[in-house]
Amino acid sequence: MITWGCQMNVYDSARMTDVLRPLGYAPVESASDADMIILNTCHIRDRAAEKVFSELGRLRLIKEERKADGRPTVLAVAGCVAQAEGEQILKRAPYVDIVLGPQTYHRLPEMVARAARAGGSVIDTDFPAEQKFDFLPEVAAPQTQGNVTAFLTVQEGCDKFCSFCVVPYTRGAEASRAVASVLAEARRMAESGVREITLLGQNVNAYHGEGPDGRIWGLARLAEALSSIPGLARIRYTTSHPRDMGDDLIAAHRDLPALMPFLHLPVQSGSDTILKAMNRGHTADEYRSLVEKLRTARPDIALSSDFIVGHPGETDEDFEATMALIRDVGFAQAYSFKYSIRPGTPAAGAPRQIAEAVKDDRLQALQALLREQQDAFNASVVGLTAPVLFTGRGRKPGQMVGRSPWLQPVHVDGPDTLIGVERPVRLDARFSNSLAGTLVKECAPT
Ligand code: SAM
Ligand code: SF4
Repeated sequence: MITWGCQMNVYDSARMTDVLRPLGYAPVESASDADMIILNTCHIRDRAAEKVFSELGRLRLIKEERKADGRPTVLAVAGCVAQAEGEQILKRAPYVDIVLGPQTYHRLPEMVARAARAGGSVIDTDFPAEQKFDFLPEVAAPQTQGNVTAFLTVQEGCDKFCSFCVVPYTRGAEASRAVASVLAEARRMAESGVREITLLGQNVNAYHGEGPDGRIWGLARLAEALSSIPGLARIRYTTSHPRDMGDDLIAAHRDLPALMPFLHLPVQSGSDTILKAMNRGHTADEYRSLVEKLRTARPDIALSSDFIVGHPGETDEDFEATMALIRDVGFAQAYSFKYSIRPGTPAAGAPRQIAEAVKDDRLQALQALLREQQDAFNASVVGLTAPVLFTGRGRKPGQMVGRSPWLQPVHVDGPDTLIGVERPVRLDARFSNSLAGTLVKECAPT
């Protein structure tokens, strides 16, 4: 399994592994040892399709070498590039056996059988009426065995149609898993030792799943139900859209200690003109007031965001408005990208595309400011004592690594028995991407 792209792809790859396990497949380290190679692709980055074809060229050689040794290989392309390119993949790379979209991987065993029978290629990029989650094996996802943290997809797809984005075309319309199915998977994860779950969705806070009471539940109610699962200490969710950040979810940050005080809430731009051109459905000030509400509800909440510089039509003033919003909000972390054309999206054909050199300059300035803010945030937690959930051993002997509530890696000296345990740690020092701390003795209850 070769996985590119977002956490949802990581989750999907794990579930594809689960689906294939009953057929006798198990993960291997190297493609040349694999009887089946799945390339799980991502369409969000620049020249996504070209990168896939170049990787397929490499995999073709492995497939041919193995064939010469009498070891056949099933080669599958999954994920968003498979969804977007479909037939085109089989035309340009006829040695590919299976092309499947993100909504059909529960049908993978059937596709493998069809490919073997037909001796030709199989393509399945439907948006089927049945929900794939209803057809996935109900075992504790083996990849979570022994893991302290895990992803759990609760929502997929997007109805927002931002000007620049391919997701609505590759992942389809917004759909939510039923509450019972999410809770059952979360329980199985907790029983296998998972202590922190990150709920995933392209628009996770647009979650509207059918509850056991027959009503539609939002993410806040789902989080509340999850927080009562024994053993589950922490809940996170990503990625959220500002438009779906309802008062109930903001209140959940105040009321549910398990909901971690770190929120990825992409804003993309601080200019109202560009936000409108992007079809984001909110203004910069509406974003500012959302942040204010969140900080009132949960004063220690840290924010992260995505930014795009150089969207068509972005002037120097628009860019300055983005810098102003960053200064006003103060982000603990962020991802930033130069706008790049995705064929078939509205912004691709928009006039006033921005020169590459201008995008470069803007990205540099934006990232310098964001880096400064990230450093300042990390410095601000030094000296605090915070709960750290330990996830594994550090690189040095006797060193353990865990996560702060704000998603920073924290190293301490301590025993292996810390794994899976949340303990108070005094945060002593910061490095570029992590913190160092000391275990603090828990006070015995009086
Ligand atoms: N649903 C999320 C939201 O609305 O914020 C974002 C999902 S998208 C998979 C992840 C990020 O990729 C976006 O937030 C955006 O910053 C970036 N992105 C998407 N399309 C892009 C494009 N054409 N050029 C540059 N960055 C892009
Ligand atoms: Fe893409 Fe916009 Fe949907 Fe996010 S909300 S997935 S950026 S279309």
